[in-house]
Amino acid sequence: MAQPELYAMNSADWEYEYSAMMRNQKPGETYPSLTPFYLVDHPEGTVLIDTGTSYEMLENPADYGPYGAGYIDEFAADEIEMSEDGKAVNQLADLGYDPAEIDTVVMTHLHLDHTGDIREFPDSEFVVQQDELEYAWWPADPIQQNLYVEGDFGVFHDAEYSVTAISGNYDVFGDGTIECIPTPGHSPGHQAVKVELEEAGTVILAADLAFTQRAYEEELQPAFAWDTEYAIRSNRRVHNLERKEDAAVYLAHDREHFEELPDPPESLV
Ligand SMILES: [Zn+2]
Repeated sequence: MAQPELYAMNSADWEYEYSAMMRNQKPGETYPSLTPFYLVDHPEGTVLIDTGTSYEMLENPADYGPYGAGYIDEFAADEIEMSEDGKAVNQLADLGYDPAEIDTVVMTHLHLDHTGDIREFPDSEFVVQQDELEYAWWPADPIQQNLYVEGDFGVFHDAEYSVTAISGNYDVFGDGTIECIPTPGHSPGHQAVKVELEEAGTVILAADLAFTQRAYEEELQPAFAWDTEYAIRSNRRVHNLERKEDAAVYLAHDREHFEELPDPPESLV
């Protein structure tokens, strides 16, 4: 039987304020980040993890989605570099995958740098924490409101799209090879994804649990974390899992973490 393979792709480069990514650290400096997404090709099915940044949103923020997303100009648009080739669907096409061949899309959370190409996968089953779905539509915090773009995930209301709202741990194939681990804090329904590979062993795609290795080790949270207390508890939960399972942790926005992963068409097996 074929073995599971993990592909890591970057949709856009995103230069961000260091002190926003890690509260009160290095004010005035920037951090050259990125917005990746991942594909696990598993003998039981194909699983996409996040969908990167939206090219269409960056091209025309004011007209993006039912209500526009012009507000992203205030805090992000100039800092993001993306070409049309960066779109999740285009990079999957380069690897030989049609959107209809993606069985499951696991969303780590619904912030705009992870949700870009959701609408391109009407045939897939989306797996999202219930808490994240609820919060995305009506965040109380105005900073969080900026991070949830209805043009990305509004299609979840469309009957054509299939969404499985989960609460707690969720085993995608029921065999322990791909498991969602709730890690609330960065956002209410943030989750990490644990993947078992035959040679690389246990890999934890920890998304925005922390922004960099330094933040992960020192428990530094971004200026816009939904709940810092929860975020730190989640951070410790993943540290425990890392030790217990001798896992490799990959944070989405740490450039060095991303560069440790093979460049497609190479994969981690
Ligand atoms: Zn993010």
